[in-house]
Amino acid sequence: MRRIIQLDVASKHPSEAGKIQLLLTNFHLQATIDINDIVALLKKCSAFHLEGLQEILYDPLREMQQPLLQARRYVPAHLKGQYLLHLHAIVIYPFENRQEVLHTIAHELGHYVFLHKLDSTLRKAWVTELYPDSEKISNYARTNAAEDFAESYAYFLLRPAELKRLAAKYAFMQQSVFRKPDTTHSCSLHITA
Ligand SMILES: [Zn+2]
Repeated sequence: MRRIIQLDVASKHPSEAGKIQLLLTNFHLQATIDINDIVALLKKCSAFHLEGLQEILYDPLREMQQPLLQARRYVPAHLKGQYLLHLHAIVIYPFENRQEVLHTIAHELGHYVFLHKLDSTLRKAWVTELYPDSEKISNYARTNAAEDFAESYAYFLLRPAELKRLAAKYAFMQQSVFRKPDTTHSCSLHITA
């Protein structure tokens, strides 16, 4: 049985008027992280970044991976999460600890922002200027420009002191990705299961 928690985000920024509703699904099936810790992470994002995202779904049986298995030749067994473009949803696979799941959520949010929230000029700047021949924040960031962005986004949210070592990427996150002066917003949970 699904248990859905609805996260209402009320932004104080005039350009972000209106409420964002994001579903946090099935996190009652695990005991590693409290749902409020996930909400705390989402509060650190700009409300603009969350807009349009439908759901963050915990998928302990990796059921949501099946459609991808059909579409691609293989899916790496180590996959910790995915952003599902056709559903505008983030899916989270089984994880070892609290830090890992927070990183996976932040990383997948980074993919959402890269695909839907960066304008083409900023996306091009990351791909052609920030990424090539640059120092990477993690090994996984070496995969390609999109993974480099997702990893850098996650570090900006969760481990900013480490990203500061990569000054150009930190500045890009601070000035271009989280650029809006007032990103404060409130989040409230409604358990609707
Ligand atoms: Zn990724």
